[in-house]
Amino acid sequence: MKPDPREAAGLKVGFVSLGCPKNQVDSEKMLGLLGQAGCVVTGDEEGVDVLVINTCGFIQPAKEEALEVIRKALVAKGRGRVGRVVVAGCLSQRMGAELGKEAEGIDAIVGLGERDKIAAIVAKAAEGRETEQPAVYLGRKSGSVAKDRGRLLIGAGHSAYLRISEGCNRRCSFCTIPSIRGRFHSKRKAEIVAEAKELAANGVRELILIAQDSTSWGRDLGIKDGLPGLLEDLHAIDGPRWIRLMYLYPTGISDTLIETIAELPKIVHYIDMPLQHINDGILRAMRRSDRREKTNALIERLRTAMPDVILRTTLIVGLPGEGDSEFSELLEFVQWARFDAMGCFVYYSEEGTAAARMDRQVDSATKQRRQEQIMLAQQKIAFDLARKRIGLRLDCLVDEVKPDGSAMGRFYGQAPEIDGVCLIRGGSAHPGQFVGVTVAESHEYDLIVDPVSS
Ligand code: SF4
Repeated sequence: MKPDPREAAGLKVGFVSLGCPKNQVDSEKMLGLLGQAGCVVTGDEEGVDVLVINTCGFIQPAKEEALEVIRKALVAKGRGRVGRVVVAGCLSQRMGAELGKEAEGIDAIVGLGERDKIAAIVAKAAEGRETEQPAVYLGRKSGSVAKDRGRLLIGAGHSAYLRISEGCNRRCSFCTIPSIRGRFHSKRKAEIVAEAKELAANGVRELILIAQDSTSWGRDLGIKDGLPGLLEDLHAIDGPRWIRLMYLYPTGISDTLIETIAELPKIVHYIDMPLQHINDGILRAMRRSDRREKTNALIERLRTAMPDVILRTTLIVGLPGEGDSEFSELLEFVQWARFDAMGCFVYYSEEGTAAARMDRQVDSATKQRRQEQIMLAQQKIAFDLARKRIGLRLDCLVDEVKPDGSAMGRFYGQAPEIDGVCLIRGGSAHPGQFVGVTVAESHEYDLIVDPVSS
């Protein structure tokens, strides 16, 4: 019998969302579909008919985290606290039926291409009508980008991710994402704009554009350097006051894109460009197209065009072949570039990637030590930059108000989840509101701010 989403009506469904913002968009879409099918959706992990776990699985720690959550759910199932366990997302896509062997007792494994059938799959699992244990729904890995309208937003609802493309055509030697998420596909502009309008109508004040590789948007649709044009269309939508760009591949940042970001007032001067490394030999081994000289020039171009620009990057230490001199070059670069924010990850040898087959793997103690050195150097820079903001007048988007009246928010230089925050002392702000503040103090990565009385 073909599963019918309406059969999910009335089921109590718990939902756990793991991983990055791209996965969060998938979680929100599944939550929307479950809600539309009449499920009672909750964040509870026990006392539910079905628990859906949307996993991440692109590196070993993410896989381990997902397996821990899955195993905990299976223990709850064994005790009768959870009816069925359905596992979706990147780890399901990456491992398929093998996942059922690592964690026995999963009722259904749902790949990325089957996301939109979640309500029907949940209904079938709840009734125990699966003929296999687990039932595996993998679907197609690569195709057109799924539509993300009709989401149930996780969080306060005034800030939302807007996925502009899916997959990646670059072949960075360390990365599993193209094998999990498939080839690069742009979402059509009309669909992106319609989704942004829907989010705006629902009260979203901050749109955060995401993709695996945002700067490539439009390339597969025959649009060269398409991101600036897309930004102009999004900028014209009433409602959102901030538009933030994430995951800009450095060589894709054109002069036109820089000019557009600099000129359009709603596009915040915040550039997230994962560089991964700076040594040319390591970049070649990573199969990245950027090179040190060009990256240095790009940083200078960005700071000249936007003196108030906030720069964030991510780095990887310990790729095979990274010796002391390559690492020292990276450390010196970090001290020279003075990024406002940075994530530094140790390299994990992931099955199926080109880097996993390379000689001269770096031992794990060295990788850890290098990560600590980079993060310590960056910490000093970030704390110093935070201190230099004391006295500045900023606009803050309020994210949360605590019972004692204090509030937490962010200025344009702070992206949700990954950056520091502004701790707002006093005032009568509410979530989703923009308030004028002055920076009174800094506390590590965070700013302590006072509302401006006007
Ligand atoms: S650009 Fe990013 S997502 Fe694409 S292969 Fe490289 S690291 Fe992976």
